[in-house]
Amino acid sequence: MATKHVISVSGGKDSTALLLLALERCPQGTVVPIFCDTGNEHQEVYDYLAYLEQALGVTITRLRADFTDRFAPRRKFIARDDRTRREYNTRPVFEADGVTPVLKRDGRGNIVYNKKGKPVQKTVKVGGGRRVRWSNKAKRRALAALHPTGNPFLDLCMLKGRFPSRTAQFCTEELKRNIAVEFQLGLQEQGHRVISWQGVRRDESEARRDAKLAERIGPGIWAFRPLVEWTAAQVFDFSGVRGIHPNPLYLQGAGRVGCMPCINCSKGELRQIALRWPEHPDRISEWEHLVGQCSKRGFSTFFADSHKARDRRQVFADLNVWTRIQWAQTTRGGRQFDLLAQLDEPTACASAYGLCE
Ligand code: SF4
Repeated sequence: MATKHVISVSGGKDSTALLLLALERCPQGTVVPIFCDTGNEHQEVYDYLAYLEQALGVTITRLRADFTDRFAPRRKFIARDDRTRREYNTRPVFEADGVTPVLKRDGRGNIVYNKKGKPVQKTVKVGGGRRVRWSNKAKRRALAALHPTGNPFLDLCMLKGRFPSRTAQFCTEELKRNIAVEFQLGLQEQGHRVISWQGVRRDESEARRDAKLAERIGPGIWAFRPLVEWTAAQVFDFSGVRGIHPNPLYLQGAGRVGCMPCINCSKGELRQIALRWPEHPDRISEWEHLVGQCSKRGFSTFFADSHKARDRRQVFADLNVWTRIQWAQTTRGGRQFDLLAQLDEPTACASAYGLCE
């Protein structure tokens, strides 16, 4: 049984170093680089993959989720859906002192924890709630818009009637993880043992602090993370001394390479994107319109936020991509316009990693 080393290449610094490392360490012909195309990428990413292929003499297999088959059942479901539920506003509950939060408990009296392991505060419903259902008008609007576009990110959001969020990050799962796993299972069926190389570093985020060097992630599939103890600088150096240039997006101010923009992007990143690549907010605005057409409420915004307003027009006006970009150009929690942010010169190097001396 031959071993295949599957390297997920994203066009970023970590996966580039990972690919170089795998090519140096593994026997020839056993390294299988893959790229999961979300359809929400910058053109520079595709160009950089072509550069890597040419510079390293490898072929990167492009994987792209296809949701075309899910449109007809979804249209049928919407046309027949006559369920009604109520949606309520809530308020947090405190002890008699008005300061100490009351913790939420499940049916057995155990405290409920969120995904980050923090206890959840108890809440109570406020008011009579509002009825949520597909109105005939909304059904007609959704059925007219709900047709595959061929873009995996957009098609997925149209099917869901919403964009992903931090708490419902279905983009990573359906556009990256599932198709990568499917590919690896295919290799297994062909009789190979699979090692999935992942460019994860512990200093990247709190969530990755405990990342293991190696672990079994399924029958016959192992994850290997040789960069867990590396720093961003080491990663750039490793590729640099081997004559491989970083993705040009880093030199233009991007702190990370991946979706453009990512639903989790920071205020600073959003400001850079609007300044340097305005075609991407234009595209996201069009997507907000299309996904909104497919949603029960009639609107959907790319960047989610907790919003107390009931009026859906108000929610959309406050959270759409253009409003968020305006907010990204402010300081102090969005109240004060940041004049210095406007002075950023789009042609100047603003690499978050200090790549240009
Ligand atoms: S989390 Fe961000 S980078 Fe990952 S798939 Fe979703 S939008 Fe793209």
